[in-house]
Amino acid sequence: MTLRIGCIADDFTGGTDVAAALRRAGLRTALVFGVPDDTTALPAGCDAAVIALKSRSTPAAEAVADSLAAQHWLWGKGAAQIYFKYCSTFDSTPQGNIGPVTDALMDAAGAGVVVHCPASPPNGRTVYQGHLLVDGQLLSDSPLRHHPLNPMTDSSLSRLLTAQTRHRAAVVDWSTVRRGVDAVREALLAHEQAGVRHVIADALTDEDLAVLGAAIRELPVVAGAAGLAEGLGHAYPTTGPATAEPWPDEGRAAVLAGSCSARTLEQIDRFHTGGRPSLHLDVLAAAGGRDVTAEALAWYDEQDPAAPVLIHASASPEALHTVQDRLGVAEAAAQVEELLGTLASRLVERGVRRLLVAGGETSGAVTTALGVRAVLVGEEADPGVPWTYATTEHGDLALMLKSGNFGAPDLFVRALTSAK
Ligand code: ADP
Repeated sequence: MTLRIGCIADDFTGGTDVAAALRRAGLRTALVFGVPDDTTALPAGCDAAVIALKSRSTPAAEAVADSLAAQHWLWGKGAAQIYFKYCSTFDSTPQGNIGPVTDALMDAAGAGVVVHCPASPPNGRTVYQGHLLVDGQLLSDSPLRHHPLNPMTDSSLSRLLTAQTRHRAAVVDWSTVRRGVDAVREALLAHEQAGVRHVIADALTDEDLAVLGAAIRELPVVAGAAGLAEGLGHAYPTTGPATAEPWPDEGRAAVLAGSCSARTLEQIDRFHTGGRPSLHLDVLAAAGGRDVTAEALAWYDEQDPAAPVLIHASASPEALHTVQDRLGVAEAAAQVEELLGTLASRLVERGVRRLLVAGGETSGAVTTALGVRAVLVGEEADPGVPWTYATTEHGDLALMLKSGNFGAPDLFVRALTSAK
């Protein structure tokens, strides 16, 4: 198998996001969880593979080591171009990790210049004169200036980058991008000859990103959010419609939710309304030694096999605080992840073949419990929320991994009750 693009995403949600973007561009795309090794198998016939790391907020040295390992693995699968996917708000600090990881990937590839563009026009992220705007506001004036981990108080991508790397940065501005692919290529060459290594490209629309994609098609390393990846994906010839995806017509359908985000709570509420079968897991009882898993499975076995079921630990902010106060945050999370991971395995054993998982951490716990390390990315049910296809020891599975605030309020109902 020969990949065309190998992508390294600095977090789990970002991995799903960029994988969905590459698939939209017509590439048959796999998503791999964590640094792969010799035993990690990709679905057959993929054009692109995305490795989802957890390197956004780890120490820079660790982020660099994981990214380099991912790059080597992708090269081993034939990927000639490496795309480093980070957040469309350039979530990082003066220590990194965007600068150090990009530099390491470039050094390993012998690349002279890299193009960065975190624009994501459908989500209101644009780049103009090298400055990042969020819904038309400078990043530093947006709510991101109060981000709990990495407050973004500067909007100049050159300044943000040069704090993270010892190399020079410069901008290819919007007027150049508007002049088209050749103009961008010339500007890149001029920057490279002048000793610039990090080039920030302006983009206001998807059309701009398509121009950039075509202009950077030959660069060994490219960096940005999902929008530029989609633009780049369009620059690759496609082999026609994707090979049929293995949608399971047989088997039962279930949602497992561990996310307490407002949108997930709405989706749970919408599912529950109308009398669809749903069960809340008592996390405190589980911590106290009650066999909540066995109780949940007994409940599941009594349900109508034709009806999708929902099993969740999700709680309102007040209820969540009560549990966290009693158990501590880490222990509460460990309990929930253990419960939902075990349930996922038991449900798949019992014949569930369509499984929707709500929650970023929860998704990690479920894929680990199921032994799923790579999936084929399918059609999106909502923006950034694709169905994926996995192989487990009990059979093939359609798996939807949804992080907290993603998806419309009716996602659970729509995704699991509609036929393909
Ligand atoms: P999101 O994507 O919405 O952030 P995550 O799955 O990443 O969702 O995180 C949700 C966190 O909330 C997990 O760590 C989970 O263990 C925790 N959690 C969920 N339900 C409960 C509960 N009832 N009590 C305590 N913690 C909970």
